[in-house]
Amino acid sequence: MSNVFNFSAGPAMIPSEVLAQAQAEFTNWQDQHTSVMEVSHRGKLFMELASQSVQDFRKLYRIPDNYQILFLQGGARGQFAAIPMNLLKENGKALYLTSGHWSATAAKEARLFGEIDEINILEQNDELKVGKLDFSDIAEQYDYVHYCPNETISGVEIFDVPNVGDAVLVADMSSNILSREIDISKFGLIYAGAQKNLGPAGITLVIVREDLIGHARKSTPTIWNYEVQKNADSMINTPPTFAWYLCALVFKYLLSIGGLPEVQKRNQAKAELLYQYLDQSDFYRNPVAKQNRSLMNVTFTTGNDELNAKFVAEATAAGLHALKGHKVLGGMRASIYNAMPIQGVEALICFMKKFAEENR
Ligand SMILES: *Cc1c(COP(=O)(O)O)cnc(C)c1O
Repeated sequence: MSNVFNFSAGPAMIPSEVLAQAQAEFTNWQDQHTSVMEVSHRGKLFMELASQSVQDFRKLYRIPDNYQILFLQGGARGQFAAIPMNLLKENGKALYLTSGHWSATAAKEARLFGEIDEINILEQNDELKVGKLDFSDIAEQYDYVHYCPNETISGVEIFDVPNVGDAVLVADMSSNILSREIDISKFGLIYAGAQKNLGPAGITLVIVREDLIGHARKSTPTIWNYEVQKNADSMINTPPTFAWYLCALVFKYLLSIGGLPEVQKRNQAKAELLYQYLDQSDFYRNPVAKQNRSLMNVTFTTGNDELNAKFVAEATAAGLHALKGHKVLGGMRASIYNAMPIQGVEALICFMKKFAEENR
């Protein structure tokens, strides 16, 4: 292993064990003397890989039988449109709970398809905090309620699942999928672009409850229709086979280290270490209330733009890459997804201490 740690928010790190395996079988996959990229997605070997990946993913999240797993394209943004196309009735209404950039962007896209109500659940005083999450009194009138449990840019995570009564809850888990245990049965649909916590860019995972499939609008393009994709095993067109293969390796790897209980334990330990350091520091500040601090994306600032830029430049030179915060927010952001080892967080804190001493 090199001594570079990559804190990129996405595309992000992939477990080094997975990359090593992919490298070892790059030109000779399954003894075919060809790479996985060069075989038919409808051939026996790839079909086996696809079906095994679904089984492994089900096992990781203990997904009930009445949910379908789809591997689609178009990223999370594709789902911003696919969700209303499939779930919003012609004269229906949906509710979007917004807590930052991505949930707001999802709401904006959904407006292309019908009536959308929006409730801002982010309280922005001296810290960023998510307010009450009981919508059971109003949720019933909506075809679905959408929210984003981890706002990647600001590092605001929502750990309690919103109460929407019997309404359909939809979650954009692009940046926290497979990061901790969740009760799938509380959700109607969960989706995630792969490039943060599942694998490389180019593939999008959708977990959807069976009874929500089959109600797409007539005008829904075939590749966006969940029912068509379900019946075609997510292969109505050629899927991104190499991305799918890497996701399949990531699932196997996560199972091999102990599944989500172990993954969650590691993620909590990493985040705790970093937030603890931030809290006792008078040089850096994290703007998020304790109960909403993301396990995946940790934002911090020195409070001074010039100093932030110096931090990012010197950190990069020291092998701590991609710490620059998103352009809408500035400051710094350390993305510490599943694949980031605790040694990366330790190296970051060590650098932060040194930088604070040299620049106070
Ligand atoms: C990255 C991200 C997106 C955008 O994903 P694409 O696959 O690029 O469309 C959407 N939502 C969240 C929460 C994200 O982190």
